[in-house]
Amino acid sequence: MEKLSVRHIGEPPLAERVLIVGAHPDDPEFFCAGTVARWVAAGTTVHYVVVTSGDKGQPEHWNPSRSFVEVREAEQLAAAQLLGVQGITFLRLPDGEVFDTLALRAQLTAEIRRFRPDIVLTHDPLTRLYRQHPDHRAVGAATLAAAFPASRLATFFPEQLAAGLHPHVVRVALLFGSDRPDTFVDIAPVLERKLAALRCHTSQASAFPGGTENRVRSRAREAGAPVGLEYAEAFLWVDLE
Ligand SMILES: [Zn+2]
Repeated sequence: MEKLSVRHIGEPPLAERVLIVGAHPDDPEFFCAGTVARWVAAGTTVHYVVVTSGDKGQPEHWNPSRSFVEVREAEQLAAAQLLGVQGITFLRLPDGEVFDTLALRAQLTAEIRRFRPDIVLTHDPLTRLYRQHPDHRAVGAATLAAAFPASRLATFFPEQLAAGLHPHVVRVALLFGSDRPDTFVDIAPVLERKLAALRCHTSQASAFPGGTENRVRSRAREAGAPVGLEYAEAFLWVDLE
């Protein structure tokens, strides 16, 4: 096993503005709702970009009179509102069909240039030890490409500058779902908040036999164990400056 290296532990790193880019509704809550709750409590402004609206997660006997995408977006909005997130951009790409394309990089670069975050959180595109949804890999790769170097250089997507956006330097990327995390946020004070936010995703409740809450608790316990925290969310820190 690789030696544990710790870059940051305890409270979330200081930031005025944080952008979280997830592949599906509920990814932000699964991977970082506790960190989001602590950031919001500290006065940090948090915005989400959700790349697909999770249309492949539709239960077998769904009543077609209700749009499943609308339901998932409403669940995502409710969860974000509960956590105090400022806003959400839904890109509405088809679930399960996301690739790291130039078009997606352009969309994510525009979001970064519009919101101007200090820190961007997204999926680790290079996870090898855990099973990983292909959309997570694609979104992680496209977001990293947007955060560095595209958003900071005026030569990338110059049409966005003509439309009034300006280049922006993101300081740090924090990658979730990493198999070698080095950044551990203590979420013990906000674990109940994280569980409440996940409960907003009602349509996904049957997706985890044994219960979402047990899974989330044991994940948080496992994440904190190597650094002596009762409950943690773990990230890989990437300097972009
Ligand atoms: Zn996902």
